[in-house]
Amino acid sequence: MRVNAYAAPAAGQPLVPTTIERRDVGSHDVLIEIQYAGICHSDIHTVNGDWGPQPFPVVPGHEIVGIVAEVGTDVTRHKVGDRVGVGCLVNSCGHCTNCQGGDEQYCANGMVPTYAGVDRDGTTTQGGYSTHVVVDADYVLSVPQSLDPAAAAPLLCAGITTYAPLRRWAAGPGKKVAIVGLGGLGHMAVKIAHALGAEVTVLSQTLKKQEDGLRLGADAYYATSDLDTFEQLAGRFDLIINTVSASIDPNAYLGLLAIDGTLVNVGAPAEPLSLNVMSLIGGRRNFAGSMIGGIALTQEMLDFCADHGIGSEVEVIPADRINQAYERVLASDVRYRFVIDTASLN
Ligand code: NAP
Ligand code: ZN
Repeated sequence: MRVNAYAAPAAGQPLVPTTIERRDVGSHDVLIEIQYAGICHSDIHTVNGDWGPQPFPVVPGHEIVGIVAEVGTDVTRHKVGDRVGVGCLVNSCGHCTNCQGGDEQYCANGMVPTYAGVDRDGTTTQGGYSTHVVVDADYVLSVPQSLDPAAAAPLLCAGITTYAPLRRWAAGPGKKVAIVGLGGLGHMAVKIAHALGAEVTVLSQTLKKQEDGLRLGADAYYATSDLDTFEQLAGRFDLIINTVSASIDPNAYLGLLAIDGTLVNVGAPAEPLSLNVMSLIGGRRNFAGSMIGGIALTQEMLDFCADHGIGSEVEVIPADRINQAYERVLASDVRYRFVIDTASLN
């Protein structure tokens, strides 16, 4: 079927309205009528060519919430009318060690990203800035009814990308966790780390969003533009999650870790970070990375968020404001996720 969408025609070009083809619903597929699609900074990195050449035109969007409109004959997991979500991956081999271990995002044979990827049938995947999408049922998540659908959309990337390292590195009671950058990922990290029972500190460029940060669940808030911050907090944290979309000095943040502490980078800037290994050796510190999360963990995160009444703080926009929203995200002027109301595409 031919559906309306918004696509970037070339690297760095503004997005424009277009139509794209969605495949016929196969026996194991789900057709989703999309309601909301979040704007992730990864969409912007992709469109701007920060991560290398892309198969333009690209329809971004991997924070998708909608309603099941049709299911294939073999689908039992979802039914017509269910509220569902799709995150950053729409397929993987399913049989490699990583897939078998629930880490489909690290599929040894290459996971299929929701957009700008090569699908199993050789076509280019196109994302959620559109009215409909067809996805293999195993990669479609159930979105609990108690969650507001617009506020739930960002959970599919920002939520799982922060939930996964917070769980893996055991954020919880008695743990001191810092979140660097209060944007889309950062604000979800604050909410989730707080709900897990950790003591949460926000490290933002300025104190401009301090009131919000404390309201979202942070116990403390510091400006990284104030060099005293790095002295005051030296050796303080068990875990730091860096969500910053630009390159920062990792050595300065590693200095804030207690012995055996871990700095997990989820921010994925275009430029490499410059690490001085003495920053690790000095305090037996760890520097790690983490990419989204597997399908089962994503479902666990959605259920956790429903149990704790956690959604994203969203600004819902019509599709014709996508380019303006990109500018505002780049200027760190987002509170805290733009979400496209895809009904505006009809
Ligand atoms: P975002 O909403 O733009 O948030 C990024 C935040 O970083 C900003 O709000 C700002 O926070 C801070 N920041 C921006 N520029 C900065 C600079 N020059 N120096 C210091 N701080 C700066 O972006 P997002 O959607 O949360 O995504 C964040 C990053 O994570 C992106 O690189 C994205 O591609 C990546 N990502 C990775 C994964 C993964 O699986 N690892 C998944 C999704 C996204 P303050 O204003 O509070 O300082
Ligand atoms: Zn994302």
